Amino acid sequence: MTGKVLQEIGEFGLIHRIRKGITSSDPALVQGIGDDVAVLEMGGMGTKTLLVTTDILIEGIHFNLSWTDPYQLGRKALAVNLSDIASMGGIPKYFLISIGLPKNLSLSFVSSFYRGLKKEAKRFRVELIGGDTSLSQKIVINICLLGEGRKKDLLFRRGARVGDDLFVSGTLGDAALGLRILQKEGKAKGAEGLIQKHLSPCARLELGQAIAKHHWATAMIDVSDGLLIDTSHLLQESGVGVRIWEDQIPLSRLYQKWIRYFSKDLFQLALSGGEDYELLFTAPPELRKRISALARSLRIPITRIGEILPIKEGLHIIKKDGKDDSPSRLGFEHFK
Ligand code: ADP
Ligand code: MG
Repeated sequence: MTGKVLQEIGEFGLIHRIRKGITSSDPALVQGIGDDVAVLEMGGMGTKTLLVTTDILIEGIHFNLSWTDPYQLGRKALAVNLSDIASMGGIPKYFLISIGLPKNLSLSFVSSFYRGLKKEAKRFRVELIGGDTSLSQKIVINICLLGEGRKKDLLFRRGARVGDDLFVSGTLGDAALGLRILQKEGKAKGAEGLIQKHLSPCARLELGQAIAKHHWATAMIDVSDGLLIDTSHLLQESGVGVRIWEDQIPLSRLYQKWIRYFSKDLFQLALSGGEDYELLFTAPPELRKRISALARSLRIPITRIGEILPIKEGLHIIKKDGKDDSPSRLGFEHFK
């Protein structure tokens, strides 16, 4: 690597460089760097795969002790990993957790954290099988989650085709708005629903597994960094472009009420704010009715927000006023 600093290339530029330097001829490796989880064939009939994903949470970057409840932090540390398995349509099974902790941290913080972790683990039937512990100046939490899935059912970031619809589950921007509210005024009255989305997200496992099992999508990713960034990852891996209709982006009532205190643009955080952990997927138009029926049966909103275009079109947003925009800055990226 050259004399440049990380800020110049950003998180995704760095991952791109790391990825370029890695080659593998291992036939068991179905997916290495470049998707939400790594996928390995487990042998046997060649149908079962091992899924592996890891995510890190760092004090001061991903959470702040002045408003973080350790119980919720435990749940969230696992939830963000579960979301990556959800985006493949896989089944989470086991996890390891490594923690770096300052020596003056109270034992009650650690036990609440583990209570939250165990609660989330029980809910999604995953088992803690190990980890590592170290002294650290700031709290650092890293989970490595293992799962399984049938190779022919799994959904990757690659796979979207020109003419497919683009769908998203739930509503967007709530978690990012909840964080802004916490930063500006703490636990503001009436904003609990938004704050909750930031502090205690819920992985869409059931939805991801249903879409994968029925083969009702061509590509899928979870929205962890923001709609535009995660859409751009899906486009890049699939080699396609997209047109997103801004006025179709699903917004919660609370979001619509609170966003005006933070931005003149109603859609700003729904487009660029992270941590929604919703699923973003593409599917051919003939599946629209089935996808609506699935949304009704699981009681999860699923909204058609765009259409997949040829790669040369890039990423377009049709703004509320009808203007066609190709945004240059997509959202938050580490180091930038
Ligand atoms: P997600 O937001 O779904 O967790 P990321 O954007 O963090 O995905 O990562 C994208 C891809 O890059 C994944 O395949 C991930 O495993 C890989 N990746 C991220 N950071 C590194 C790293 N430091 N070294 C190698 N691979 C990495
Ligand atoms: Mg992901």
